[in-house]
Parts: sequence; structure tokens; C-alpha cells
Amino acid sequence: MTTESPLTELKGIGDAQAKKFAVLGIRTVGDLLDYFPRRYEDYSVITPVSKLQPGVVTVEAVVKQAAGRYVRRGMHITEAVASDSSGSVRLIWFNQPYRAAALKAGQKYFISGDYQLRRQRFTILNPSVEMVSDLPLNTARILAVYRETKGLASRQIRLAVQPALELLKSLLETLPAQIIKDQRLISRAEAVAAIHQPQSADHLEKARRRLGFEEVFQLTLASLLNKRENQHETALAIPFDEKLARDFVKHLPFKLTDAQRRTVWQIYQDLQKIEPMNRLIEGDVGSGKTAVAAMAALMVLAESKQVALMAPTELLARQHADTIHSLLKPLGRQDSVAMLVGSLKPAQKAKARAAIKTGKAGFIIGTQALIQEKVDMHQLALIIVDEQHRFGVDQRKTLMTKAGHMPHVLSLTATPIPRSLALTLYGELDISVLDQKPAGRQEVITELASPNSRAQLYQTIDKELAEGRQMFVVCPLITESAVVEAHSAEKIYEQLSKKDFKHRRVGLLHGKLKPTEKQAVMERFVRHELDIVVSTTVIEVGVDVPNASIMLIEGPERFGLAQLHQLRGRVGRGSAQGYCYLLLSGSKSPNRRLRALESSNDGFKLAELDLELRGPGAIYGTLQHGQLDLRIAKLTDTKLIAAARRAAQELLDSGEDLLQYKQLMQHVNRFRAVTNLN
Ligand code: ADP
Ligand code: MG
Repeated sequence: MTTESPLTELKGIGDAQAKKFAVLGIRTVGDLLDYFPRRYEDYSVITPVSKLQPGVVTVEAVVKQAAGRYVRRGMHITEAVASDSSGSVRLIWFNQPYRAAALKAGQKYFISGDYQLRRQRFTILNPSVEMVSDLPLNTARILAVYRETKGLASRQIRLAVQPALELLKSLLETLPAQIIKDQRLISRAEAVAAIHQPQSADHLEKARRRLGFEEVFQLTLASLLNKRENQHETALAIPFDEKLARDFVKHLPFKLTDAQRRTVWQIYQDLQKIEPMNRLIEGDVGSGKTAVAAMAALMVLAESKQVALMAPTELLARQHADTIHSLLKPLGRQDSVAMLVGSLKPAQKAKARAAIKTGKAGFIIGTQALIQEKVDMHQLALIIVDEQHRFGVDQRKTLMTKAGHMPHVLSLTATPIPRSLALTLYGELDISVLDQKPAGRQEVITELASPNSRAQLYQTIDKELAEGRQMFVVCPLITESAVVEAHSAEKIYEQLSKKDFKHRRVGLLHGKLKPTEKQAVMERFVRHELDIVVSTTVIEVGVDVPNASIMLIEGPERFGLAQLHQLRGRVGRGSAQGYCYLLLSGSKSPNRRLRALESSNDGFKLAELDLELRGPGAIYGTLQHGQLDLRIAKLTDTKLIAAARRAAQELLDSGEDLLQYKQLMQHVNRFRAVTNLN
């Protein structure tokens, strides 16, 4: 047996079982060892029966009689009594008719389960039971709880892991020996064993430290190697034309914030080098990333080279095209803007393609269509990726190959990744943070509203609409669903347009509409031919309608914190006070996440909180491609992260031949494939 062996080589796993494991992405024995638990349940403390307290418990007791019966059709109950020297306790299993026969009267067992009051009597419900003589797998220890799937519970995964651990004897070390020694880490084999079957809380902590260190170490090494490789590539050096920059700024309808100035300056420094720029701009919604991007592009256009701006949706691409067009107009450069999106008519597309090919189009704006369709660039010098977290690495790679040489890359994101995390995940990127909102912008007032305050809320909102404001209503679903209990955009649209706001102009916008239909609705909203647009999260990213001052979110419980913050960013962009109403779908009191939103407008703060409450997945929940994710390392463990990053840098600086660390490099190369932007 090796890590590459199919799962069926494990004792007790047949084809049917293997199929279920495949649902979880586990195909080989190695995959299984790599399938780390999500959490643990501590059943390690054995309590005398007389001392039991409600909750998760383990007892060591002798089973007396056990008997099963049907209490009604489809409802079977097995009851047993178990005792130790201190007393007796009742055990009950529901719909597990095999239980009675499996228990031997007079035999001593470890019994672990939930101890609670049932029909006036304390009972251990649905306990796991194992003979005391066996090595316990499901009782009397800290138990691994895995992500499960239908027909495959943690109990069965533990059973499969048990024989797989045999392999660990031959598992090769992945970290250089010196680092293990310096950092006082346990071996990889021991850590993997402990992550699945910890002997104690301390043992588990050691395993986590070892595996977490390794993760950050490898990720950092991967990005440092990527960075080093980029330095060997050459890009077109773009000179800085100060007069042009001043001219552009002079014609802006606003004054740049200091953060914008600083960032533009950093970009201009980068562009002048032949080393390819690889910079990420992180800026909260409304921090003015578009103007910064336009200023970067300006220098490229002045050199008669091309810029490609890629946006995640057609709506956004079109909006960018409009914005860029009007920003360039005062300089007489608006004609260089070309848009290429999927819904263009064939003739329009052909025209755009031709302009791109000859270089007549300097500023090319589009969606994925830019990379999915055959587009020949003339001389692409700069790629700007808006909402970069929405793009897969492969997509970015494809776009870059169109340049022929290495283009400079500027990524924009409104997903506020805390800086420590960004540095770990994207070590090869230079990062600029737009940590300042344009002056004079009011904070959006956010309020949680209970379902029974709907009518009153509508009245409040109508006063604003009467003043000439506009509203977005965002729903979690497009159509009513029998399974999911949540308001759909279609239903709310019906209600608002026919009843509550029938005296207003209401539009409907969702992902199932054709791009041209979406575009039409959005344009009507922009021209204020609609007062209200009811939509799904298609409006989440980037849409800019300054007169829209109200955001009403139905069922905010269904959205992530980062997403809610993004949605809220759609309002409060003009001079009027912005409002964001979170209309709860149930009467349950709102959790900390939603309360946090009410009290803070700071995306970075909210991201930190989300990280704390839900782990890194919270941020990466928005990732659609790529697997960038730390499974073990806690991002709040700054000491561990710093130590691992330093160790990686030191190894690279030592000039040692990395190829000697074959195991390490295998892992690192996997990470490189994910993080490499080239
Ligand atoms: P985001 O960073 O979310 O992409 P945008 O670039 O769309 O933000 O900018 C949001 C709005 O703020 C736009 O209407 C833009 O014209 C305006 N804006 C950008 N920079 C400034 C500034 N320095 N002062 C005032 N308004 C600004
Ligand atoms: Mg934007």
C-alpha cells in the first residue's frame, strides 16, 4: 500500500463505500490521510455514572439488559441500562434495531454520547459503544469530526483512517531537518497521526503547530519563488509623464485622496521598471479604485501601448467602459476605449477585435470574454483585473499569454483581506491599501429590522423615494423555492410593484436575465426611470449609482459578512445620506455578525471579525476558483506565521539547492501553481 493506492485497498472499504469517499474528493489512501478533521469532540474524560452532568459524556460501565421494539410504524427504540460501581444510567437509540443484539449483557463498555433529560429521566442518547478491551475509536478519547456526506459519517471515516495510519511509518518528512530542530516541531508522520487521533489536547496542539507551520512555510516559499522568477521576466518599461498626470488630475471632478495619490505614485514607480509589476490594490468599496486604475492606464496609453481591464460581470465591464470614457474625455483620449463583452452583436465584436489587433484600441475593457474568445492584442503592456478574487489563476494565466511578453499586472479588490493574511497568501504581490474614503462621504446608516416592522419600514423608505432617492432591494433567491425558506426576487418584485410601492417605478434584475436585459434594467435605474430595483446579488460588485441611497436586504442571515458589506457599499455614494436596512427573515435575535455590521462601516475591521468568528474560509468563501486556503494555521496566530515566513525566507537566502528537498518541493510546487499569477 502506498499513498497512491486506491481506497479499496483499505480493510473494509468496497466499491460502494469508495464511491461515497469520492464525493468528498477522497480517492487514494493519501487523500484520506490528507483529509483533516474540521473539529474535535472531547470524549476523553471518563465520568462515574453518579457524577454525570448534561452534555457530552463518556462512562465506563457494564451493560445489563438491552431490548428493542417498535413504538410505532417506522419508529424503533432500543433501550439498555448500564452501570458502574457508582450507579446506573439509561441508554436509548432511535432506529438502530441492530443495537440490542450487538450488546452483550455483563460486558464492560466505553459509552460516549449526549446525556440529557428525556421524558423526565436522564438518558444517554444514541451513544457510541466500544468494548473496553479494544483500542477505542469512537469513545473515551478526543474524537475527530470530519466533513461528512450522505451515508458517510465521521464514525466511518475514523474507521477507514485507522488502517491508513499504517502508511505513516513510511511517510517521508517534508521539512528540512534543521528547521524541525530549530522550531522544535514534531515529525510530519506523528503530526498526521495526531491530527486524526490525538492522544491528548496537548498532542493535538503540537500537531496543529507542526502542520500549520508547514503550511505557511510552503506557501511563503512558493510565493517567494514565484517572485524570484518574475524578476527574470521582462515587461515594457512605461515612462512617467508628469504633465499628463497633472492634466488628468486637474480634470477630475474631485480631489484625489492621499491614499489614492500614494497608490498611483507606487504604480508609476513600478511601471517605469522592466521588471513586471505585480501589485494588488486593496480598497474598501467606494475607496476610488477606478480612478487609480485609470491613472495607471494613462501612462501606457501615452506610450501607444495597450491596457486590458477585465471585470467579473458584463454589467460592471460596461459601467467601467462608461466611467473610463468620461475620465479620458477631457484629455481627448476617449476614442481609445474599446469594449468587448459576450453580448455584443457579431459585427460589433468584429469591429472591436480589429481595433484591438491594430492597436487603435488602447484601453480594452471586457469580461472573461477577453480571454475566452480569440482576441489578438497589438501590444499589451498592462493588465488590470477588477475584483481579482473572482478570477481563477488559470484565467489570469490565459490572459497573460496573449501579451507575448510579460505584462504588468494590477489587481483590484474590495474584499478586505487583513494585511497579515494578504502577505501570507500573496507574498509575491506588492500591496497598496486604499485605507481612506473620499472626503465628505457620510457613513451609511445600517439598521436591523424585524419581519413585523416591514410595513413601517416601507413608510420610512417611501419618504426618501418621494425626495427623489432610489432604492436597491436584494433578495437571496431568484425564484420561490420549496426547499429554501427565503424571499425571492420575483416574489418581492410582485409585492412591491403591485402593492406596497405600486405608485413607484419598480424593476427586476437577476442572473437569469439575458445580459442585454440586465443592462436595460440597469440603464433605466441609472437614468432614474426606475425608483426601485429588486435584484439578487448580481448587483453586488461595483455597481455605481450615486442617487441610490437605500439598500434593503431581505434575509441577511443568508449572506456572509463580507458580502453584506459589499452590498451596502452600493449606497451612500452620492451626497444624500445612505441607509442600509437588514430585514431579518425570522424573529430569532440576530447574531454577532449582523450586529457587527450595524456598528461598523469599516470593511477591514469586519473582515478581521469574520475571520475570528468563522475562520479563513469566511473570506475565501467568496473564492470561486483556486484552492488558496490554510487548513490548519490560524491566521490569528501571528507568531507562528511570522516564524514560518522567516524560516522560508532564510532557506531561500541560504542559497541551498532546494532540489535536495524533494518532498518539500513537491508540495511547494503545488502551491506555486495556485499562487503564480504568471
Ligand atoms: P471602488 O473602489 O469601490 O471601485 P469607485 O472607483 O467606483 O470605487 O469610486 C466610487 C465613487 O467615488 C465613484 O463615483 C467615483 O467617481 C468617486 N470617487 C473616487 N475617488 C474620489 C475622490 N477622491 N473624491 C470623491 N469622490 C471620489
Ligand atoms: Mg470598483
